[in-house]
This record gives sequence, C-alpha cells and structure tokens, in this order.
Amino acid sequence: MTLFEKIIARQIPAEIVAEEPEWLAFHDINPQAPVHVLIVPKKVIPRLGEATPEDALLLGKLLLAVQTVTRKLSILETGFRVVINHGHDGGETVPHLHVHVLGGRPLAWPPG
Ligand code: 5GP
Repeated sequence: MTLFEKIIARQIPAEIVAEEPEWLAFHDINPQAPVHVLIVPKKVIPRLGEATPEDALLLGKLLLAVQTVTRKLSILETGFRVVINHGHDGGETVPHLHVHVLGGRPLAWPPG
C-alpha cells in the first residue's frame, strides 16, 4: 500500500478536510503555506504522467475538489495555487498522485 492508501484506509492518521467517494483531502504534514492540503484519488495512479484516458473523469473531479477545499478553508476568494509534482525533477516523493493546494499567503512566482 502507498502511504496515501494507508491514510485513505485510516491506518495512518491525517487531518481530513473533505471526502468524496473518489477522493480524500487532508492537511499536508509539512505545510509550505498557512493552507497546504493534499487531494488524493482513492484509485492509485502513481503519477500524472501515468494517468490514462479512462482516468479523465477522475482527474476532472480532483480539480473540482479544489473548489470544495478552498471554499471550506476560506481561500477561494483570496487565491491559491494548485501543484502536481511529477518525478525526480518535479519533486515527487510519494508515488500516489496528489494535488497540492497552497494558500493563505501571497505565493512567489516562479517557484524554486
Ligand atoms: P510530493 O513531494 O510527492 O509532491 O508530495 C508529498 C507530500 O506528502 C509532501 O508535501 C509531504 O509533506 C506530504 N506527506 C508525506 N508524508 C505524509 C504523512 O504521513 N501525512 C501527511 N498528511 N502528509 C504527508
């Protein structure tokens, strides 16, 4: 099981923000901004580059989940950033697709 599968299965605790049948959103353990949430599909897709056309609806739902999370955490109006890290150069560390949602302060651009 991936780390995030264990969180989905409640084998590892996490501070959950929202949940739907297809995804779980929880606070990142090492937040890089006042709000740093991970949205994780319950279906294991290792990384974005391995998603298939069959995953199109699920990928759309993950992006729409951003609205749910940012509204709930009151950053929908102030703004936020969505990040998906892929592979070594992208900074991916957990091989289970996840959408980072960062906000609660102005974010620098470009990222490092
Ligand atoms: P990546 O680097 O793969 O894009 O993102 C993985 C994220 O998972 C990191 O931001 C890291 O802080 C977070 N993370 C790693 N282990 C845990 C954990 O056990 N619980 C939670 N909530 N987040 C974790």
